[in-house]
Parts: sequence; structure tokens; C-alpha cells
Amino acid sequence: MARYTDASCKLCRREAQKLFLKGDRCYSPRCALERRAYPPGQHGQGRKKTSDYGVQLREKQKAKRFYGMLEKQFHNTFLKAAKKKGITGDNLLIMLETRLDNVVFRMGFASSRKEARQLVNHGHFTINGKKADIPSMQVVPGSVVAVKKRSHKSPKFEEIKDMQISVPAWISVNVSNLEGTVLALPRREEIDTPISEHLIVELYSK
Ligand code: SF4
Repeated sequence: MARYTDASCKLCRREAQKLFLKGDRCYSPRCALERRAYPPGQHGQGRKKTSDYGVQLREKQKAKRFYGMLEKQFHNTFLKAAKKKGITGDNLLIMLETRLDNVVFRMGFASSRKEARQLVNHGHFTINGKKADIPSMQVVPGSVVAVKKRSHKSPKFEEIKDMQISVPAWISVNVSNLEGTVLALPRREEIDTPISEHLIVELYSK
């Protein structure tokens, strides 16, 4: 599976916004955006304002990077969102939020979406008791996402059992059992990702 392998912090600097790709480091003074709040590259500090198209493109790039997706997968998600009833931008964000890797991150079982994706890929999770190792899987309301029993003893998950975790209203978590339930689809106002989805819809509708 294709994936982005360059430095994660460059992506935040390009978008001039924290994308929280590196877990705890993102909340510390070691965050690259705190130290170098300008785009990467030789001309990073000299770039000027962009066109409408440029603004829309940046918003799409930001959303893709926030959720750790590459272009093809992100565009396919958009096409599916556009086919659903309702507002395409809302549908898109809801589909991004209910990806398994994002749900694992939102449940507090990983410190970043990147780590969540890795943990899912390594087979540490189940959905309703069945193996779930595809990060892009859509988790539907009523589903129980749990850490596999045999993974409970790993230091990573042992540590989580003692943590205070706050989760969005559409999710509930039982930390000591290392499992959580998706109670409902998130409403737009419950999604705090700083994305102006209408710009993405405008871009893909050209
Ligand atoms: Fe982005 Fe986190 Fe790197 Fe800061 S530390 S630039 S928030 S990935």
C-alpha cells in the first residue's frame, strides 16, 4: 500500500497549521511549527498569497494530510460522499471521521492517526469481535471497536488502561476493557477538524 514517507512536520509547515501527526511531540515545544512557522524549502519564507484555486487546493491537501491519506483514496472517498444523500461536504467529513484508524485515534488508543493506522495494520483491533486490520474500514454506529485480548499485555495498551481519556459525544469508551463503541454518526458540529469542506467540494466540482 502506498504511503507518505517524507518528514511529517514538513506537512504541517506547508499548511501553516498543526496536523498533529506525531503524537505527544505535537503538544510540546519541540513541535517544528513552533520553531519554524513558515513553509519548508528554499523559498519557504518568500511565498505570497495564492489564487482561489490555490486556497481550495491547500484545503484539500490539508484534509488529506490530517487524515493521512493519499490523493486516490481521498478522491474516492469524496466520490462516495457525493453519491450519498445530504450535503457532500458533511458526508465527506463524516466518512473521514468514521474510518477505523480515526476511530481508534478518537477513542484514545493511539496518540496520533499515524500511530492508529500502524496499530490497526498490525492486527491489534477487532470490530464486533472480528478481525479488523484495514485502516480505511468504515465503522458503523453500534460497532464495538476493541483491542484484541492477546494485545492487552503490550506496554502500549497497559499504559492506556490508567489514562483519563476524553472522547467526542458520538463515541463511548471503556478504558479498562480497552474497547469503545461508536454510538452514532458524528454530526458536523461534533467534528473539530479545522477544515472548510466547502472549498474541497468546490475544487473537485470544477
Ligand atoms: Fe506537526 Fe506534530 Fe510536527 Fe508539530 S510536531 S509540526 S504538530 S507533526
